[in-house]
Amino acid sequence: MCSSPSFPTSTSKLSSKNSSRNSSKSNSDNSFDNSSKHSIENSSENSSDKNSENTLERLINTNIAYFKPLINVSEMRRLIPQSKRSVTVIKKGRQAFKNVLTQQDHRFVVITGPCSIHDYNAAIAYAEKLKAITAEISDEILVIMRVYFEKPRTTVGWKGLINDPHLDDSFQISDGLKMARKILLKLSELGLYTATEILDPITAAYLAELVCWVAIGARTTESQIHREMVSGLSTPVGFKNSTQGDIDVAVNATRSSALPHSFLGTDDNGKVSIIRTNGNQNTHIVLRGGLNKPNYYSEEIAKAEHKLNLRGLPLRIMIDCSHDNSGKNHEKQKWVTRDIIKQKQKGNHSIFGLMLESHLYPGNQKIPPNISDLKFGVSITDKCIGWDETKELLYELHKTFKSNNRTS
Ligand code: PEP
Ligand code: MN
Repeated sequence: MCSSPSFPTSTSKLSSKNSSRNSSKSNSDNSFDNSSKHSIENSSENSSDKNSENTLERLINTNIAYFKPLINVSEMRRLIPQSKRSVTVIKKGRQAFKNVLTQQDHRFVVITGPCSIHDYNAAIAYAEKLKAITAEISDEILVIMRVYFEKPRTTVGWKGLINDPHLDDSFQISDGLKMARKILLKLSELGLYTATEILDPITAAYLAELVCWVAIGARTTESQIHREMVSGLSTPVGFKNSTQGDIDVAVNATRSSALPHSFLGTDDNGKVSIIRTNGNQNTHIVLRGGLNKPNYYSEEIAKAEHKLNLRGLPLRIMIDCSHDNSGKNHEKQKWVTRDIIKQKQKGNHSIFGLMLESHLYPGNQKIPPNISDLKFGVSITDKCIGWDETKELLYELHKTFKSNNRTS
């Protein structure tokens, strides 16, 4: 279902040494302009059908190893249906976040969880700990769990649970999507609000009803495709500044995605469609630092506020305490958190939340040759703070906002 109309719909191995059955299938399925195909044939000195098939074979799919059909979104929803409990929780989480953005909810948002999810049991173990503390702090803190399944890489590396769920380069994307849905479903049934990054617009629909908030990452904030997608998402969305530290691209992304767009995509039955969106009013920027330099200091916040003011946009800023804001050193995430606490105590109104990269245990690990050697609850992508420290920071934030709100 993820293929364009010109692609074969059954599993097929395509290469320049392809069978004639496959190439004629490509031919008959493809939606290229027939008249131009005709003129190519006519201009060819040996314009037999066979030759034109061979010509086409040499023009397309030379770098495709295979296509493999995937169940469509409607089928996936039937296979792993959302429960009533999950619907209630997700609806409530989205509304709470929207209310924070429009200042109808006074709480400070904290999105916390692993850089990436790679293990069902570890994700649930983390979620249970987070859920247990949420009840104690939810009068002041809107707690959302980071549940990231797609990892944009600077060069190469494991691209996340959806892309390679078995961590062995077998790329069982169908299993990955099912696992991701099961995890999000379980977390929402536990009563947790969920946040994810969407990297591949096709993935969005497979997970859509199970998340409360979406991130567009530093490497894709400038992408028109992602801005168009966001304009049709039902969740609030945070746009990261670029990896180079450019905040304008995030500001522009919020402007673009607030408007209706028309673009190409697939509907829930996998049919390639023209999609018309309404525009998403629930977006904001996320400052994550850039080029190894942080951008959470008050001077940087003032610059970001100025950019938003210039465009007449609401002052809504989230701080990512990790990535370039921590110099990729997880131990510095607490410094960032404490600086934000100070800025809030001094009366900052634009920062409405922060994000922590946190797992059960601190640091990270490389994927070992033998997967059974993985340490439980330790990140396999960016370094995370451990649960004990996360808990302390959450209590610290809670205490701060509790006393701030009492005195204000
Ligand atoms: C992340 O959140 O793990 C991430 C990759 O963030 P960024 O897009 O800011 O690099
Ligand atoms: Mn990360």
